[in-house]
Amino acid sequence: MKKLITPLILLYAATASAALPLKIYSGQTDTVTTPKHIIVAVTEPGATATINGNAVKVYKTGSFGGEISLQPGANTVTVTASKDGKTEKRSFSVYRAEPVKKQTKADDSYAGELTTPLENPHYIVTTKGAYLQFGNGDDRLGGSKMGFLDEGIRLKADGVKGSLYRVALANNHFAYIPKQYTAPAESANPIFNTGSWSIINMGDRDRISIALPARLAYRYRTNLDPSTITVDLYGATDNSNWMTQRTLELGMIDYVDFDQIDSDVYRVIIHLKDRYNWGFSVGYQGNSLTIDVRHRPAKLSIDGLVIGLDAGHGGEFTGAVSPSGLKEKDLNLDIVLKLRDMLEHAGAKVVLTRDGDTGPSMAERKEIWKKGGVQLAISIHNNAGGSPLTSPGTAALFKHIFDRPLAEAIASRMLQLDVPFFGLVGNFNFSLNGPTDYPNMLVEGLFMSSLAEEELLADPDFRTRMARQVYLGIEDYLKTVKASLKDK
Ligand SMILES: [Zn+2]
Repeated sequence: MKKLITPLILLYAATASAALPLKIYSGQTDTVTTPKHIIVAVTEPGATATINGNAVKVYKTGSFGGEISLQPGANTVTVTASKDGKTEKRSFSVYRAEPVKKQTKADDSYAGELTTPLENPHYIVTTKGAYLQFGNGDDRLGGSKMGFLDEGIRLKADGVKGSLYRVALANNHFAYIPKQYTAPAESANPIFNTGSWSIINMGDRDRISIALPARLAYRYRTNLDPSTITVDLYGATDNSNWMTQRTLELGMIDYVDFDQIDSDVYRVIIHLKDRYNWGFSVGYQGNSLTIDVRHRPAKLSIDGLVIGLDAGHGGEFTGAVSPSGLKEKDLNLDIVLKLRDMLEHAGAKVVLTRDGDTGPSMAERKEIWKKGGVQLAISIHNNAGGSPLTSPGTAALFKHIFDRPLAEAIASRMLQLDVPFFGLVGNFNFSLNGPTDYPNMLVEGLFMSSLAEEELLADPDFRTRMARQVYLGIEDYLKTVKASLKDK
């Protein structure tokens, strides 16, 4: 291995007076293996700058950057900034080495075969906070979640991968569960017969209760067209000979039905009156499977609506930091507070997960929204990653398909800011997008790591416009829901 060349920093003070600030933010790397190399630096706003003699744009933040081509071996990089007759210069060396051939190693996220079968079955019972994953994959936000599970559900684990058990939901249906949400159990359930159903109107929600001899695992999902919620019960066969709707005046449920989709998988099918779903929850009361389907808000306007807002990160969790030093937690909060003012001005009740520089946990944020009875919720973040010289743009993200219309409404308003579109991202694994209790979505405003987008984010007026577009997106969503009712 060749000896690395120590970066040499040469300081030239052009004049005796206070020097112009010039900081290399990224690219001052000892050794690289690619011919293209990106340098980002920060100076005083209004200065001019060069990288290896080529003039580059200095943004209003003072950030600037450029891509250079490196020859094999040692390369000298010179960065200058000039303003008011003063010039600052930094020179350093970057060594371009031959790429080292990497040992190919299986990527864990694709390695299904890495689950180790358990020789003897291990029985577990779910504890508070449990959730299922489809597979044993992982990423920054954890493996893809199938859904949450209530506590007290017994299951047979038949394999292990890292911190996960593979569990048998039914004979041919498997999922993964984090070990931390399980306790040992004596046995798993046999296959049970389902009991009677009752469907009632609770005032602000419709409730379906299904009597069972024990708590069984389940999986829920929504469909947009037709507008349904399905809940699959594992280890159950139909014997529900009384599916009794106690009133003809249900708020959101049109009618219910069932299907035995596998010999031991029982499907609850809930047809909604509305095309748009205002949230639902699945859990147990004793051993009765309880599905609550929330009614649409009485008035489909911002006035009177309870809206949850979340400013990402906070406290010791700064989130992304831009080249010129802007912290994501501060920008997120600023946008959220502006949006709160707009919503409150229009008569909404806003429930914030934080209104200052604090960093509540994801569980605490969800609890704040749940306690606050939010009817719709939005989390605001800003993004980072990729080349600082590109502008990846804005993104709207959601987990469950019934959240897509809200995310789409907000995305379409954000694009009026004339920014590029990163995308509308579904099945997103962010914790605050997990709950199905209310429609929710996540805005990733712009990329803090992009020099052009950093410049926009640094402008308080632009942040006001961002907040305004989210406000208009919420308003559009409510109008769309209202219009869909008139169609019927
Ligand atoms: Zn963030």
